[in-house]
Amino acid sequence: STENNILSIKNIEVIYDHVILVLKGVSLDVPKGGIVALLGANGAGKTTTIKSISNILKTERGEVTKGSITFEGEQIQDLSPTELVKKGVVQVMEGRHCFEHLTVEENLLTGAYIRKDGRKAIAEDLEKVYTYFPRLKERRKSQAGYTSGGEQQMVAVGRALMAKPKLILLDEPSMGLAPQLVEEIFEIVKSLNEKEGVTFLLAEQNVSVALRYATYGYILENGRVVMDGEAKALSENEDVKEFYLGLS
Ligand code: ATP
Repeated sequence: STENNILSIKNIEVIYDHVILVLKGVSLDVPKGGIVALLGANGAGKTTTIKSISNILKTERGEVTKGSITFEGEQIQDLSPTELVKKGVVQVMEGRHCFEHLTVEENLLTGAYIRKDGRKAIAEDLEKVYTYFPRLKERRKSQAGYTSGGEQQMVAVGRALMAKPKLILLDEPSMGLAPQLVEEIFEIVKSLNEKEGVTFLLAEQNVSVALRYATYGYILENGRVVMDGEAKALSENEDVKEFYLGLS
């Protein structure tokens, strides 16, 4: 039912530069407490869908021209990215986007910029981030630009956690990472989901990993949802196996 969905997208259309129609009526639901995967090839529209939710399309001359996006039952299309973070909707961008000249710890603290609950609460959450990412604790004083790709992805997720998110929008977490690290990142997503109750919507080209960790999946092709279902059912679907998992 609708009340169980923390996020609901109905039939959105997105146009770049006034003429390039990229999302052609995308609908999707994210249940509270779920891990939902947005799957599809390069250029299918995954990133655009994520950016529509976090309302950062404008900087790329993109615009949602139809449809609705609701978070906890409330329309959110007119909220600024900062207002969305305050509500608990936090995006982790593709390509990680650390502040390279700040230390790992300074990067994490920037995630708490909207909070008003004081230094003690923020310090406690920083320690909590370090329990999920012990590697970041070891590297807390290092300049982020000199840490590895995997560590920077951890910084990006840790930074999102510092904002006390209800929903994390994670764009292509596996990008550029060795298989071992991809697994490590997804394991952390899973434990944050289970232990902290964070809901995830993640865009991923690595369909096989995403379906192992997600509860539900949507497959986008050319700006449309062409298939959706429970992750297990999708991973056993013959078309998904052939076109996305390279089996059969
Ligand atoms: P990727 O894995 O490459 O991020 P994606 O599934 O996330 O792929 P999008 O980045 O959402 O796909 O891109 C969807 C389509 O929109 C592509 O055809 C892309 O060329 C186009 N597009 C993306 N950004 C813009 C932009 N700023 N202006 C014009 N077209 C764009």
